[in-house]
Amino acid sequence: MLLQCWVAMAEAENFKYKDPKQPLNVRIKDLMDRMTLEEKIGQMVQIDRSVASSQVMKKYYIGSVVSGGGSVPKPKASAEDWIHMVNDFQKGALSTRLGIPMIYGIDAVHGHNNVYNATIFPHNIGLGATRDPKLARKIGEATALEVRATGIQYTFAPCIAVCRDPRWGRCYESYSEDHKVVQAMTEIIPGLQGEIPANSTKGVPYVAGKNKVAACAKHYVGDGGTTKGINENNTMISRHGLLSIHMPAYYNSIIKGVASVMVSYSSWNGVKMHANHNLVTDFLKNTLRFRGFVISDWEGIDRITTPPHANYSYSIYAGITAGIDMVMVPYKYTEFIDGLTTQVKNNLIPMSRIDDAVRRILRVKFIMGLFENPLADNSLANQLGSQEHRDLAREAVRKSLVLLKNGENADEPLLPLPKKAKKILVAGSHADNLGYQCGGWTIGWQGLSGNNLTKGTTILSAIKKTVDKDTVVVYMENPSLEYVKSNNFSYAIVVVGETPYAETNGDSMNLTISGKGADTINNVCGGVKCVTVIISGRPVVIQPYVDVIEALVAAWLPGTEGHGVTDVLFGDYGFSGKLPRTWFKTVDQLPMNVGDPHYDPLYPFGFGLETKPHKAH
Ligand code: BGC
Repeated sequence: MLLQCWVAMAEAENFKYKDPKQPLNVRIKDLMDRMTLEEKIGQMVQIDRSVASSQVMKKYYIGSVVSGGGSVPKPKASAEDWIHMVNDFQKGALSTRLGIPMIYGIDAVHGHNNVYNATIFPHNIGLGATRDPKLARKIGEATALEVRATGIQYTFAPCIAVCRDPRWGRCYESYSEDHKVVQAMTEIIPGLQGEIPANSTKGVPYVAGKNKVAACAKHYVGDGGTTKGINENNTMISRHGLLSIHMPAYYNSIIKGVASVMVSYSSWNGVKMHANHNLVTDFLKNTLRFRGFVISDWEGIDRITTPPHANYSYSIYAGITAGIDMVMVPYKYTEFIDGLTTQVKNNLIPMSRIDDAVRRILRVKFIMGLFENPLADNSLANQLGSQEHRDLAREAVRKSLVLLKNGENADEPLLPLPKKAKKILVAGSHADNLGYQCGGWTIGWQGLSGNNLTKGTTILSAIKKTVDKDTVVVYMENPSLEYVKSNNFSYAIVVVGETPYAETNGDSMNLTISGKGADTINNVCGGVKCVTVIISGRPVVIQPYVDVIEALVAAWLPGTEGHGVTDVLFGDYGFSGKLPRTWFKTVDQLPMNVGDPHYDPLYPFGFGLETKPHKAH
């Protein structure tokens, strides 16, 4: 007995890092003392799932895997398919000499948006319109459960960009043009990760175990401030401007224990963020005392030079010495591993820099319990797309809608609409299109068109389920004015907007309504009283049609729960959303943000009419 006890003690002594009762720093040190340079550099590498396998994980001691652009193991993969894939990679990592678990990351940026049957919440711009941080937190909780249901432990969210110019293709990933709104919405972080304990050391991340995921505040810093909103471009602003507009939400995120921060592709006054030692190391790590890990963007290190790979050794050097800890998809990861190893062996990159990176990555893995629970089971499978989460998404949709116009004057409001009517017309390319409703970053990077991508309710089907059984609903995508005039409709609902896009593909200098949208508005609203619902990732040019439209609603990119739209259109709930962005008149006015000296918008930041529900809830 005594002997057994002694052996157990000796074992615990030997493998302190495996003992959850040991203090965090003891575990980290014990493990790092055992690691070779090769094992350490492996931890710093995040490879794409398309090149990952259990053998690759083992051979290169890979620390992390990513679903790039949200790529999936197979179309309509189930929770079990995901778990199977993630566990397979994990088993490879666990079979290494020290058995260090890997962490799997995905862009769950409006719910677990790459996964079939997951609940898709409104994109961030819509959440900004709710001005409801508690709601954001609940969405974080639901998202964490759905992500964990697929065996994944890490999400590249939230995007805390302060989008200053709607021409940016990622504007919808930004909660607001106003940094105070963005700061408030960092409340999604404790939802994703759990509430950081009151006595925590500032800057040390917190992820509360099996039902939570590691979050990632991105893209550090100034991603939303580039000239003309050009993606991945240059943000020209004084240091004071950068620190007052774009930085505060990072401070909030760190206070809330965010596990990681992703560096932006963009530059600040000409300096690529991926090579900015001053902002990544001096400011983020030393001044703000961030103790989680800094991750590059996809091939971000490669793009330090223009064109990429002009001198790969230099890119590795500049990125790693700037303070990047984990490298998301270095183009040819084996070349990256060799290049970094050589530079450390030749004393170009100090070992202390590698140790700092690995310590940070391991800290997160220990804190979130990955060493104790590396493999996923299917116990959370019923969380994916659960009714509770869909109800929450529906609530978020109805709170995110902004009513911009309601009748020609306050005495004759069109909304809320009556459920009982003789015959109503629903029109527009976006009325019955789940893909358009969800936008980019939904079942794939650029988003999709149509209703077959995942489960959900389109606005048209929600209308049909909401109106009285005797109300006839006619749907026609783009009817003629004559048709509208000659059919005696009680009223019409037009749903038009932008078609899905992500990142650079979404950069637009004209911000128009896509396709025949403008015709649809003119034909329908010219013939009958109409409410026009705009589905878009940002304000679009609406001034030419605003007079013909009786009632106007900004619905942003609401996601899978179209019922949230009908909840407020038909008065089961009141409108309450407020513009998270300035609604401009013409693109020539851009950039234009609240507080600008020549502020002359169509609808100002913060605008939003309210309605009362038909009956109180
Ligand atoms: C985007 C990131 C994203 C990453 C992984 C990059 O292109 O800029 O926001 O997290 O891809 O999909």
